[in-house]
Amino acid sequence: MARVRKNTTIKQYQDFVEEVYGLSNDRHYSAWDMLTNVDRFTMRGLKGIRKQDPEKTRKNLIIAISWFISMMNQLHIDLEDETWKRFPYLCSYCGSCPCKCKEKKPSKRKKVRVNKSKRPKTLEEYQIMFSKLYPAGERTLDHAGIHLAEECGEFSEAILVYRGNHQDKDFEQIELEVADMFSCFLGVFNSLGISLAKELSIEFSNNCHACKKSPCQCSFINVAKFKS
Ligand SMILES: [Zn+2]
Ligand SMILES: [Zn+2]
Repeated sequence: MARVRKNTTIKQYQDFVEEVYGLSNDRHYSAWDMLTNVDRFTMRGLKGIRKQDPEKTRKNLIIAISWFISMMNQLHIDLEDETWKRFPYLCSYCGSCPCKCKEKKPSKRKKVRVNKSKRPKTLEEYQIMFSKLYPAGERTLDHAGIHLAEECGEFSEAILVYRGNHQDKDFEQIELEVADMFSCFLGVFNSLGISLAKELSIEFSNNCHACKKSPCQCSFINVAKFKS
């Protein structure tokens, strides 16, 4: 039985997704199919914000994040590394913690000195880091949701450009965008006041959240029609 533990690292969660969904992803899903599922479930999560239905947001974003992690596995991107490179306990723009971009919008990204001892170990610790960088009390849930939508578009754009050109510099742009998008997923969870790691440990306590098998045996059509 494969499961996600509450104290999971991002890397362990990536390995869980590979173990449970890797086979199905390889056989049934192109990069475009996976990207469609990331977008689709993220948008369903945002609909939950508009409808003031936090359960709808929670459930759909958990599924969106799992598709997002499947894409990280397909692209061989270490999400934990990329997140730390972009957010070393400092805002990636202004270089402060908490972020001071609102007071003084920086014209370009600041070079920062990284304190390696502050590097979070678990997924939970990354969520706490983002709650300190971008405190939920300083923006609304709607704002966090709009930011996630923006980053979702930028991530899709980076995939589109890379798939067109197949150049290293375009792949590097994907690596930057995945960190931004992941920070926004965690931003929405911080605004909702719930722990992503805890929710993953409940949803994925026993293999695939839907068919309860590992590897997942959900059919393509059931996934395409899945609603929550
Ligand atoms: Zn900032
Ligand atoms: Zn399944």
